Amino acid sequence: MALLITDECINCDVCEPECPNQAIYMGEEIYEIDPSRCTECVGHFDEPQCVQVCPVSCIPIHPDHIESRETLWQKRLKCLRPLRPQQAPDRPWPVAAVSAAAVCWCG
Ligand code: SF4
Ligand code: SF4
Repeated sequence: MALLITDECINCDVCEPECPNQAIYMGEEIYEIDPSRCTECVGHFDEPQCVQVCPVSCIPIHPDHIESRETLWQKRLKCLRPLRPQQAPDRPWPVAAVSAAAVCWCG
């Protein structure tokens, strides 16, 4: 499954840096989750990190993206691809470094 940020989001900025897949980004009005990158934190943490830190509990399961754990694992591997160009400038590390680390991590 992917998760979804509802319009109860108060733009507190807390969840975005916690996402291990860089799936959270600022949308037109509130933060949003890219369902193609959200793995519910499978492969990284036991619990979705965004849900853990959100102060207003506005991150439910996305009803249009119900996926098996195996599918989430496959998505997690795909998420090791380089960041989208619009995301990279805000990152504290170069895209190449992320890619290299990902390759090493997966063996
Ligand atoms: S559940 Fe995990 S992967 Fe999905 S948006 Fe939240 S922090 Fe990112
Ligand atoms: S932690 Fe919750 S309230 Fe804060 S930006 Fe993320 S979704 Fe919005």
